[in-house]
Amino acid sequence: MTNRDIVSRGILGLMRVSPFYSTLIVKQEIVETKDVDAAMATDGNTLLYNPNYINKLKQKELVELLKHEAMHVANKHHIRAKQLRPKYERKFKDMDVSYHKAFNIAADLAINSLLVKTERNYWIGSEFLSGGCIPKEPPFQDFPHLLSAEEYMSMIDHELENMDEDERKEYINSLGLNNDDDCTVLECPGNITEEEMKSNSNIASATINSRGSGNESSQSAKAFIEKYSAPPKVNWKRELERFIQVTTKGRPNYRRPSRRHTQSDFIMPSRKDKGVSNIVLLIDVSGSMSNEAVSTVYDHMSDMVKYSENLSIKLLPFDDEVFYDSMQVFDKTNLPVADKDRIRESYGGTLYTNAIIQADKECASGIVMLTDLMPADNEEFMKYKIKTPFLMLSTYGSDWMHYDNPSYDNEQIRRIHDRFKPYKIIEVEVGKHER
Ligand SMILES: [Zn+2]
Repeated sequence: MTNRDIVSRGILGLMRVSPFYSTLIVKQEIVETKDVDAAMATDGNTLLYNPNYINKLKQKELVELLKHEAMHVANKHHIRAKQLRPKYERKFKDMDVSYHKAFNIAADLAINSLLVKTERNYWIGSEFLSGGCIPKEPPFQDFPHLLSAEEYMSMIDHELENMDEDERKEYINSLGLNNDDDCTVLECPGNITEEEMKSNSNIASATINSRGSGNESSQSAKAFIEKYSAPPKVNWKRELERFIQVTTKGRPNYRRPSRRHTQSDFIMPSRKDKGVSNIVLLIDVSGSMSNEAVSTVYDHMSDMVKYSENLSIKLLPFDDEVFYDSMQVFDKTNLPVADKDRIRESYGGTLYTNAIIQADKECASGIVMLTDLMPADNEEFMKYKIKTPFLMLSTYGSDWMHYDNPSYDNEQIRRIHDRFKPYKIIEVEVGKHER
C-alpha cells in the first residue's frame, strides 16, 4: 500500500463518519512532503502530509487527525491566523516568541477541545493523538475547554506577560514557542466576515440535518455550530474563574520537554502551588444592589473555593465606607457561606477609591469587585492606580433591566459601561427577580 493509499483510506473512513468534514478534506490539493515536521498541515487549499508520520498511525487515529485538519479549515484558522497577527506579532517578537507557533497551539487547543468531546477514548488514550494540545490535559491543565483560538491566544499572551524574564524563557523553551518548524496551520491571505462565518454554520447545520451523517460527527458539528451561531455573550463565571486561575497560580514547575510524541513536541509547565492563594472580593453593599445578584456571586465563589486546592476568599463589604468589622475569610474549612452572613444592610452611597486602596493593602493575588457601577467618586477612582490585578463584576445592567425601571435604559447602561472602559467589566447574570 502506498502512502497515498493510506491517506485515501483515512479519507474514506472520515467520509463514513462525517461527510461534512471529509468534503473539507477532498476539496484541497493533497500533497506528500517530508518538509513538514508533523503528520499533516493545511492552509485551507493544500493539505500536506508527511509519510514518515502517516505510516505510524492506526486507521482510527488517521481519521481523527483528518477531522482535526478539516476543522482547521472549517474554522478558517489559516485566515484568522493572519488577521490576528498585527495584535501580537511585535510584542511576541520582543519576547522571542514565534507568533505563528503560538497561534498554532491556540488553534489546536480550540479544535481538540471539540474533538475530545466526541471521541474522548481516542484523544486521551492514543499516544499519538494525546501528544497534541488538549485543554484540561497535561500540560494544559489550566486551560478551560471550548474557547476560540483567539481566546486561547489571549491566555497564552497573559501567561507570558505575567512572568519574570527567567520564567518566561523556560516557558518559551518548554513550549517551543521560539521555533515554528512544526507549525501545521499555514497562513493564507484572505478575509473572513461575520456573514461568512454564519454561512459556514448554515452549511454545517444542513449537513448534520441531512440523512447519512453519522451520529458521532453530528455531535462535533453541532458543537461547532453552537459555537458560531450563539450570540457573543460573556460568561461571567468562566471569566471570573479564569481571572482567579491566572492571578493565583504559583511559580510553575517545569518538566523537561519530551520529543517522544510526534504530533506535538512541547510540554507545558505543570503548576502545583503549595501556598495559599487569596482573592479579595469587594462587595458593594449600597442599597441599590439586589440580594439575588450578590447571592449568585457568593454561591459561585464558594463553589470555586470548594473545588480548588488552596484558594481563600476575603469578603470585604463596602459602600461609602469599608466595613472591616464585617470582613470574612472563606476557605475550604468554613463553607458554605451561611445565609446570615450574606445579609447586607446599607443604604448609603458608593465610594470606590477608599475601598480599592484598602483592598490593595491586603497584598492579595487579585481583587474582584462586585458593584452596580454607580460610585460617587468616579473621577478620583479613575486616577488611582490599582496595584493588584483587578476585575470588575457588574450587576448594573441585569439588575435594573429586570425591574423594567423606566429611568434606566440600554443607552444609560452603555454610557456607564463606557465610563469604566479602562477596566474589564463583566456583567453578572442573575435569574428572575422575585420582587
Ligand atoms: Zn492542528
